Amino acid sequence: MRYFDTHAHYNDEKFKDNLDEVISEYKNVGVDRVVNIGYNIESSKKAIDLSNTYSNTYVAIGIHPSDVDKSSVSELEELYNKYNNGKIVAIGEIGLDYYWVKDNKEAQKELFKEQIKLANKLKLPIVVHSRDASLDTYNILKECPAKYGTLLHCFSPTDDLVRLVVENGYKVAFGGNITYNRAKSFQSYMDMIPVSQIVIETDSPYLPPVPLRGTVNTSKNLPIILEKLAEYKKIDVEELSEIVYRNSLEFFNIKE
Ligand SMILES: [Zn+2]
Repeated sequence: MRYFDTHAHYNDEKFKDNLDEVISEYKNVGVDRVVNIGYNIESSKKAIDLSNTYSNTYVAIGIHPSDVDKSSVSELEELYNKYNNGKIVAIGEIGLDYYWVKDNKEAQKELFKEQIKLANKLKLPIVVHSRDASLDTYNILKECPAKYGTLLHCFSPTDDLVRLVVENGYKVAFGGNITYNRAKSFQSYMDMIPVSQIVIETDSPYLPPVPLRGTVNTSKNLPIILEKLAEYKKIDVEELSEIVYRNSLEFFNIKE
């Protein structure tokens, strides 16, 4: 089986000493493509550097809502123009996070919209982070749609978001969070999302799946996530692995 990790942060400090080892471990379990996701200018640049060093690693550049005061969209565009190596496949992660900071909602929304516009200009899809902000995320994606694809990362279903995803054919990425204990309604949300719209991710180094909580998460744990997804979707694991792999290639516009 082969796996595509659509969301990892090997640009994180945590991996500065052992990245070669981590990469060979995940390759050993069949993970053969990874998108490293930026969250500010520096980490986006680092993700580009990694894509120059390691084969089959791709890049999303973007400013996370937590960095709203630290980086600007013009710097992001400059970064793209200066360092584009053909492996920048998305703008992300971008979006809204009202869990950590609640007093700058307007600034977060503005930054989100500006980055969607940049993605449209560069003809790239977007990778969206949304935490405790599902209604505002819904409204912005309606008002300011991304023309080349939308992926909701670390997807945590709500009525609003599932409706948005189903109506618009957006992709959703499930990570370690799918293995956590869930309310009964989770299964019914899972039933509503067609498998053609699903991909998988680790969000490494964060969000390790059960039973590895408390450890540094890496892409070698992707098979655990896929297995849980197969249970929810009642599909054979091997078949599902190929479907979500192809969905990922298609979303990021990567040729085999
Ligand atoms: Zn992330």
